[in-house]
Amino acid sequence: MNTQLINLTNYYVPNKRIAQTELSLIRSIIETQHTGEYSRVSLGLGELQFPMPKKARAANQKAINEGKTNYTPNAGLVELRDAIADRFSQQFDIQTTRDNVIITSGSTGGLYIAFETMLNPGDEVLIPALQYPLYKTLPEKWGAHVIEYALMEDFDIDVDDLLSKITARTKLIVINSPSNPTGQVVSLSALMKIVKRTIDHPSLFFLSDEIYATCLFEGATHHSISSLSERTIVVNGLSKQASQAGKRIGWIIGPDFFITDALKSQQATYVCAPIDSQYAALPVLKRECDKELALYHKHLDKRRKLMGSLLQEISGLHFHVSHGAFYYFVDVSAFGDGMTVAKKLIETVNVVTIPGIAFGRAGKNFIRLSYAASEEEIREGLQRMKGVFASWR
Ligand code: PMP
Repeated sequence: MNTQLINLTNYYVPNKRIAQTELSLIRSIIETQHTGEYSRVSLGLGELQFPMPKKARAANQKAINEGKTNYTPNAGLVELRDAIADRFSQQFDIQTTRDNVIITSGSTGGLYIAFETMLNPGDEVLIPALQYPLYKTLPEKWGAHVIEYALMEDFDIDVDDLLSKITARTKLIVINSPSNPTGQVVSLSALMKIVKRTIDHPSLFFLSDEIYATCLFEGATHHSISSLSERTIVVNGLSKQASQAGKRIGWIIGPDFFITDALKSQQATYVCAPIDSQYAALPVLKRECDKELALYHKHLDKRRKLMGSLLQEISGLHFHVSHGAFYYFVDVSAFGDGMTVAKKLIETVNVVTIPGIAFGRAGKNFIRLSYAASEEEIREGLQRMKGVFASWR
């Protein structure tokens, strides 16, 4: 059996890029072992633990009971695309119809087909210096070059740096607001300046990842660059907005000519998003679950404040108050780099945080903490962290 396996690997020649892709650093840190007696407290993964809203659950169940297990059209259920288009038109005052919308398998599916549809080898993609890792992995799949633009000290976009990186080959500028990992919201003034100063680059498009658009705090407002430029592809989804990551519902909104091509990509990947999940998404998008979602938002805000105040009690840590998503991005350079600190936190007290380097070199001295965790986990985790940092030096 073993001999056969060894022989087989001699002949196994996988795709070079896939073979060289490192498994997500986020996953690998979560798998770091603790050998002491502490139970694990995870402030790592960004996934809400609230139940799926009631009406969404009922719609899901109904679809299954009615035997809805077939394919949907590639672009998704017409009524769901209509609901998304209506909501988007109202929110940003942009004329949007179902022909501008494709339901995708999570936002990940949306990012995949958006990049595949837009990119040719040699194209350049500008991404934030602190970024969701797929903004790098995916464009490189199609031979595009990824170039980071700098962020200001408060993590807003450094517009001058971004503009200085635009060349004739720039195809896409990726914007993610509210941001994973920084938890900050891009200012309207930055977006306006970017749109104004890129008017002379008509082949350049914006890809706006707005998956955290409803996770806003401290009076922050979400601005979509799509309301300033028609050359925008919006990626969004329900994983973070309605606590149903496993249902895999996302969507892209873009100009109809882009959608026509994006459908070819969707057809050749996962065909359509799961049908029962699309039915489950309908009441959420039709705003029938808003009461429950408002309650989730309230809980999340409470956790955000709790984590902020407990972090404040640990001397040596530096951070900005999180205005969006569900993350604090904390400068730990007084103790070491983020990887050293994250490993030590797991090894000594079994608290999981994510080293900032997982989101780009600019994150080397940071760790990311998620307040999607429960209040008890936040209290326990931060108390253990306080002990570790107090005895560090
Ligand atoms: N974009 C961002 C910024 C994210 O943080 C995530 C998930 N962590 C995604 C996209 C993908 O989410 P999903 O595929 O579950 O919709």
